Amino acid sequence: MQSTNVLILGGGPAGYVAALRTAQAGLATVLVESDHPGGTCLNIGCIPSKALIHAADEFHKLSAGGQAADLGIEVGPASIDLARLNEWKAGIIGRLTGGVQSLLKQAGVRVVHGTGHVLDGKTVEVTPAESEGRPQRFVCQHLVLATGSEPAALSMLPFGGRVVSSTEALFPQALPATLAVVGGGYIGLELGIAYAKLGTRVTLIEARGNLLPNWDAALSRPVQKRLADLGVEVLLNTRVQDGDSEAGRLHLLTEGAQTQVREFDQVLVAVGRKPRSQTAGIDRLMLDMDGPFIRVDEQGRTSMRQVWAIGDITGEPMLAHRAMAQAEVVAAVIAGQRRRFEPLAIPAVCYADPEVVVSGLLPDEARARHGDVLTASFPFAHNGRALTLEAAEGFVRVVAKRDDHRIVGWQAVGTGVSELAAAFTQSIEMCARLEDVAGTIHAHPTLSEAIQEAALKALGTGLHG
Ligand code: FAD
Ligand code: NAD
Repeated sequence: MQSTNVLILGGGPAGYVAALRTAQAGLATVLVESDHPGGTCLNIGCIPSKALIHAADEFHKLSAGGQAADLGIEVGPASIDLARLNEWKAGIIGRLTGGVQSLLKQAGVRVVHGTGHVLDGKTVEVTPAESEGRPQRFVCQHLVLATGSEPAALSMLPFGGRVVSSTEALFPQALPATLAVVGGGYIGLELGIAYAKLGTRVTLIEARGNLLPNWDAALSRPVQKRLADLGVEVLLNTRVQDGDSEAGRLHLLTEGAQTQVREFDQVLVAVGRKPRSQTAGIDRLMLDMDGPFIRVDEQGRTSMRQVWAIGDITGEPMLAHRAMAQAEVVAAVIAGQRRRFEPLAIPAVCYADPEVVVSGLLPDEARARHGDVLTASFPFAHNGRALTLEAAEGFVRVVAKRDDHRIVGWQAVGTGVSELAAAFTQSIEMCARLEDVAGTIHAHPTLSEAIQEAALKALGTGLHG
């Protein structure tokens, strides 16, 4: 039995950040990871998906279906070597996960490569990966659960055969001629659009009446328009009723009880992710739950003393930057500092085409919480930089309280708007008023001028439209 101050189970963005911080605070820290450090995010999530999206964009621009001809640029037919593309992606992943490993080493974290199993709130047994030795037992003062999440499956269409999750879709060995994407959320849009740009005929199947249904329809409209340009078939209000994974056959039920049977070379199921909150012996702890998630307070405490939980296992939004921010708080609290996880806004970005950003409250949410609100949208069609980038589609929208003009939300859809997320979130966290943003000089010509223009418009003093 070996002892440590802190044992962290899972080395994704939540776990490795917590480990770095507790070790930097001088606490003996053990990080248990069964796979590669960096978790879903670096290995099979954020990073490979953004790499694939970039590659698909470049390919699409260069191929006959791209837009460069409008600029007077003509190139011959483009081709893609998937093996080299996957190698390039693997290189980025290797660089980042290698960086995390070095940081952990420098900080003095003991990384144990193996599968952890919680025996009780203070004891974890680790079975080494492959044949690296005998199981080891650790006893800790603080146990931090950070086991993350995995793709949710459809019971009538299990993974296998022609049915894949994002994990396989991120590293294609060959491109299917036809692809059904079940789920019009983050993954469905990001990967569905990438495959369409690589030349696959994509059908997007979404159970609800809108793509990205948790946000208002105005935000997904430019995306829907782009999908039509790319030849993607979109079936809204449509569910998979039954299916055959081996044959890639889907029985679809559309609103109005219409049914159709369709066959695809590949089916990507992207209907959400399932927290690993009841695996690895965690269920034995009988922690209080919020549905499938482990319930935590604003300091990351579970219902058991000195057992903490961070990241995807603790609830929505299941995003890497939320996981890392929670990890910082929990590590600080374990190290004896006074910290709370109480963000005013957690930005969310869907890397569709065009990109969609939401930070803080949507107009309806702001009305429900604050009563009367001011909202204003500024279209990129009136922004010079957007026109030079062939990116006139979309807008920036601000939401502020009517009484004191404090900004409570931003939304944007457009090319490159992911980079506006920081400005949006800073203004909300700093309790900026519309006047603060309207009175700040924004560089010209930049997409960010749309932020200032939206604030001016909300004040009734719009300059360029
Ligand atoms: P994870 O990253 O899932 O890490 C958990 C770790 O725990 C894993 O490494 C796992 O191997 C390990 N583990 C589990 N059980 C055990 C055990 N018993 N013993 C040892 N180790 C164990 N988020 C964003 O913010 N931006 C994006 O652009 C984005 N894109 C995404 C794209 C895709 C395709 C996917 C699938 C997800 C994406 N996400 C994105 C979500 C993001 O990846 C997650 O929110 C984030 O990784 C959660 O971090 P985590 O540390 O809680 O869990
Ligand atoms: P999601 O929750 O974003 O979207 C799932 C979609 O599937 C929803 O629109 C839902 O209505 C639909 N759906 C559910 N059941 C269905 C059914 N039976 N038939 C048809 N449609 C159905 O989930 P996701 O796209 O799988 O992504 C999982 C999580 O991973 C996200 O919630 C997010 O936390 C994270 N993620 C984030 C990013 C990012 O930040 N850019 C990218 C990818 C993934």
